[in-house]
Amino acid sequence: MRNQLILILSLSALNATPALALTNQVAPTSCQSQRVQLQMLGTRGPEFLDESASTGYLIWLDNKARVIVDAGPGSLQRFKQSKANYEDVELMLFSHFHADHSADFPAYVKGGFFTGRTKTLDVIGPSGAEFVSSAEQFVERAVGKKTGMYPYLGDFIDPDGSSAYKIQTSNIPWSSKNLSIKEVFHKNGVSVKTVPTYHGPFPSVGYRVELAGCVISFTGDMSGRLAAMPNLAKDSDILVAHNAIPENATGIAANLHMTPSYIGKMAKEANVKKLLLTHMMKRSFAAKPETQKIIEELYKGEVVFPNDLDVFNP
Ligand SMILES: [Zn+2]
Repeated sequence: MRNQLILILSLSALNATPALALTNQVAPTSCQSQRVQLQMLGTRGPEFLDESASTGYLIWLDNKARVIVDAGPGSLQRFKQSKANYEDVELMLFSHFHADHSADFPAYVKGGFFTGRTKTLDVIGPSGAEFVSSAEQFVERAVGKKTGMYPYLGDFIDPDGSSAYKIQTSNIPWSSKNLSIKEVFHKNGVSVKTVPTYHGPFPSVGYRVELAGCVISFTGDMSGRLAAMPNLAKDSDILVAHNAIPENATGIAANLHMTPSYIGKMAKEANVKKLLLTHMMKRSFAAKPETQKIIEELYKGEVVFPNDLDVFNP
């Protein structure tokens, strides 16, 4: 900090526009918004609601697709429409392993066979439980040679296999007792941090993706019970929050998902600049005006209900 200050002062003395030099030096990590885009690959939940795809997001850096978040049904079609190159994608993050967040994964693997991809694809997701796979189990159960649904794709995870590239999967240990923020990926200018979230009996995680000084966070499916997400999303340029229920939801739905008022409080507490509401279901879709009103009473930033393929700069 002291060195930085000396640099600022010396630059200020030399420069005809000291204010500009000051801005450049004191905020070296400010968001370089034009370098980063967040694109919607799917904005709906599991229902047959309309023509939109189930959950999926794509983060671009310097005009290259770098990170996929979730791979719900139909999101691969949107990936193709986005004109992204599969070869450029370094990382696939899964919030949890419900079908509406992960069913297109084997199709990505199969489609990827016909690309020129040679570099390893990292896959990261939470650990498992009784009725849901861990990330490692999910990939093994999808394409493993012995136990996979599609054993013919097993070379992609077999170190001795002849595939042109490999898929490398790791679990994020989920625990409601350890809510500290963990960095789970750091490569080529992209950092990913995570905390456990509460989604009923299904281990689920939120993500904070940092790149080019910008921050994009994702709640995944969650209720607010563990209360760790506002901390993870602190000062995000964009927070993608799953709006699966209306305010008056009760029972199982309210145990699995967060209410609009929780979303509003979270966005305010985290001081996010823009809030995107996705993972719409029939019940929340019908309540959009009411939801928007509730959230805007609590949170003063921009609130958007995006559609598939929409692109946002942080
Ligand atoms: Zn879910």
